[in-house]
Amino acid sequence: MANCLVTGGAGFIGSHLTERLLEQGETVTVLDDFSTGQRNNLADVEGHPRLTIRSGSITDPVLLSEVARNVDVIYHLAAAVGVKLVADNPVRTIETNIYPTEVLLRLAAQTKPKVFLASTSEVYGKNPKERWTEEDDLHLGSTSRPRWAYGCSKAIDEFLALAWHKTEGLPVVVGRFFNVVGPRQVGHYGMVIPRFVDQALAGGPVVVYDDGQQVRCFAHVREVVDSIIRLVQTPAAAGRVFNIGSDEPVTIRQLAEEVISLVDPSVKIEHLAYEQAYGQSFEDVRRRVPDVTRLLETLGSTPSMTLREILEDIVAWKRQQQS
Ligand code: UDP
Repeated sequence: MANCLVTGGAGFIGSHLTERLLEQGETVTVLDDFSTGQRNNLADVEGHPRLTIRSGSITDPVLLSEVARNVDVIYHLAAAVGVKLVADNPVRTIETNIYPTEVLLRLAAQTKPKVFLASTSEVYGKNPKERWTEEDDLHLGSTSRPRWAYGCSKAIDEFLALAWHKTEGLPVVVGRFFNVVGPRQVGHYGMVIPRFVDQALAGGPVVVYDDGQQVRCFAHVREVVDSIIRLVQTPAAAGRVFNIGSDEPVTIRQLAEEVISLVDPSVKIEHLAYEQAYGQSFEDVRRRVPDVTRLLETLGSTPSMTLREILEDIVAWKRQQQS
């Protein structure tokens, strides 16, 4: 069985990944500073004989080299995430997303464990295409708008990972996540579904930014974790970038209506200007839909849960939290 390191293992995606790896019989070390991740996310597996939780920052190179020693697989998920966090903390975003990845990849290049690098659909920026494929150009906005620091910092990580693959044969897979959602995701950092569900459960209003015609695709974390693990196990995936997510587009207004129909049809929708939500320098992405052909051809399947099924699962979890 493999020795795995999961950076950001107490986070939303990281905790689901950690649980799945333990279920499969792997040994897991989680490194997390519990800034956006929460210890509570690991409550169901805390004390597991094959789990070690290290509390500390990925920006500490000594700690990183300690936890990266003797591992067979590294899942590098620790990052500054969330549009709101990125807008509020641009320095932290850049420092957390670039330097630790550089250190970790350099360490990995010595012993060549398999590596999964978590990246993001934010690297595409505001590409005007209907569907984005992995070989598309990046359309990042101006450096005066902090949002793009996130995609830009992750793009640097991707360049580095691919460079280590090319020069040293490091078996690294890059996954670009598209709006991953599910139980344990919180709304503090801007994520739309937990916010809408909380607002609807509290009796409303559900607050849609701008005209609500912006488009996203939402994938359940369980299916995303499945894709991550299978990509790492697929030798042909090494050295490549993959879109990971659903390719079923929905407008944010439709999403709000769907949440309301599920929770309480009497709840009202209100619209709020971006400027009031995120501040003046904010710029949104109007449409974000992946082309998942590469993932499909490599794994034989892609995340396929419907929005309704995903929302039902999230609402059930929230209600259970509140009871
Ligand atoms: N959004 C919204 N209300 C909220 C939070 C987000 O209308 O309370 C919108 C946001 O403007 C964006 C979409 O929902 O167009 C998805 O936002 P999120 O931050 O979840 O993801 P991202 O922008 O990274 O796709």
